[in-house]
Amino acid sequence: MTEHCIFCRIAQGETDTERLYASDDITAFRDLRPQAPTHILVIPNRHIASLDEAREDDAALLGRMMLVAQHLTAELGLDRGYRLVLNTGAQGGQSVFHMHLHVLGGRQMQWPPG
Ligand code: AMP
Repeated sequence: MTEHCIFCRIAQGETDTERLYASDDITAFRDLRPQAPTHILVIPNRHIASLDEAREDDAALLGRMMLVAQHLTAELGLDRGYRLVLNTGAQGGQSVFHMHLHVLGGRQMQWPPG
């Protein structure tokens, strides 16, 4: 836990943010500024600043984050598809340095992304 990290605080239940999913190692909640009708963030509870800091030991955790995304999209009825995004580093568009998987759905996605 990093004291000033907002995503650490959300994972610890220290904010008003509603958690859509919460387990020992993963939390999911709605993005504050949604970029699609459904926009959820899936995070590891442990502070991993970005994908670049993940280690071999985190392979199962990273896999489970994807499965949590799959589970939530099924629960929310995104049966026509969805997009997962993992911005990494400044040029990758990352603004919160606690790794998070964006789950976007409910509209037609475009390619290439911005
Ligand atoms: P990124 O730019 O990939 O680092 O994404 C960070 C995301 O976190 C943005 O989409 C923000 O809208 C979102 N965000 C920042 N603070 C909060 C918060 N307190 N609760 C929910 N989402 C947040």
